[in-house]
Amino acid sequence: MKVLICGGGVIGTSAAFFLSQRGVEVSVVERTGVANAASGKSGGFLALDWCDGSPLAPLARRSFGLHAELAATLDHNWGYRRVETLSVVSSIHQNMSRYRRLDPPSWLGKNSVVYRQLGSPDSTAQLQPAAFTTAMMSEAIDNGATLLEGCVDGLAFGPDGQRVTGAIVDGVEVTADAVVIAMGPWSILACQWLPLPAIHGLKGHSLVFKYEPSPESMFVELEWKSGMMTQPEINPRPDGTTYVCGLSGDDPLPLDPAEVLPEPGASETLREMTARISPELGASEILAEQACYRPATQDGLPLLGAVPGIGGVYIATGHNVWGMLNAPATGEALAELIAGNGETTIDLRPFNPGRMAAIAPEVVLA
Ligand SMILES: Cc1cc2nc3c(=O)[nH]c(=O)nc-3n(C[C@H](O)[C@H](O)[C@H](O)COP(=O)(O)OP(=O)(O)OC[C@H]3O[C@@H](n4cnc5c(N)ncnc54)[C@H](O)[C@@H]3O)c2cc1C
Repeated sequence: MKVLICGGGVIGTSAAFFLSQRGVEVSVVERTGVANAASGKSGGFLALDWCDGSPLAPLARRSFGLHAELAATLDHNWGYRRVETLSVVSSIHQNMSRYRRLDPPSWLGKNSVVYRQLGSPDSTAQLQPAAFTTAMMSEAIDNGATLLEGCVDGLAFGPDGQRVTGAIVDGVEVTADAVVIAMGPWSILACQWLPLPAIHGLKGHSLVFKYEPSPESMFVELEWKSGMMTQPEINPRPDGTTYVCGLSGDDPLPLDPAEVLPEPGASETLREMTARISPELGASEILAEQACYRPATQDGLPLLGAVPGIGGVYIATGHNVWGMLNAPATGEALAELIAGNGETTIDLRPFNPGRMAAIAPEVVLA
């Protein structure tokens, strides 16, 4: 069996890894470079139980366990570690000492206090997203998978139009027994070819500082200029860097992933916010100024499964803020669906791609 995966983000490469483990012949087609988009620029924060109470809970719990298993068994280092996670409150206007409940790490500024613990090493972890995504691809290649550079610009169909027989890559048909659409927010392009609901791209900015403080992940409530609240996230990493995100963007998704750039002034604002939380961190050297789009659906849940009404084609996208966390269980589920007996470890019904109305192809072209 030959499977063609469109998109080399964390979802596509994790699917490639789990399929290749089952001996399936897999190719990943990537337009710009593995992990060039959100899967290389996200926070890499993982939580066991933060999706509890939502239909995502079983996927998240399974995936949190798979992350630990992969880190323990594969011969790659992607900075996986269990961490404490703290809720921090910070303000430029008021003295925050009355909110202080726990001792703050020494690198936080005097007006940032630790309000409570959000997670312990039993329930929260971190990884370096680009390293994890490329490790999944490289493990898949070791199992016989191939990586094709190219742009997917259509699908090939059998004579009755009811079955996908491959993808059109840079104008040339590449045949496959099954095709997986895993192009993150660019999966919206597949709505031109298949009956699928909309997938949106939500932009976020981030900075990588050359600074290695104590390892806690932090979710900050920052009272910012004019009393506005904002929620930056801070993830120190074991490679001597610290990742900060928390500023959204308005630019529409460009067709070419290589054209995703930070918006004017965004990096400066994010640095200023960071300096309010920790002057030491905010003053350190910036190694990367980044922007990326997370893929989101109308109801906030992923699209994961066979595309309704058309044979030989699957979709896995819309993982929103939890794509790094949920990638392994998503890859496992796709491998079970495509190369197993159809039974899946996780009940995929909440993620059925047919649960919402398909959008008209003309809407995408517009
Ligand atoms: C600021 C920010 C912070 C985040 N923090 C976290 C976090 O802490 N924890 C967590 O679990 N999740 C986090 N996320 C979410 C997570 O990053 C995403 O859900 C995940 O990366 C999506 O992966 P993907 O593979 O679906 O998409 P992408 O990473 O977008 O990959 C899609 C790939 O498809 C390729 N592509 C596009 N068009 C084509 C084409 N025509 N042909 C071939 N290839 C194509 C692109 O080049 C890209 O490589 C964060 C997201 C953002 C934006």
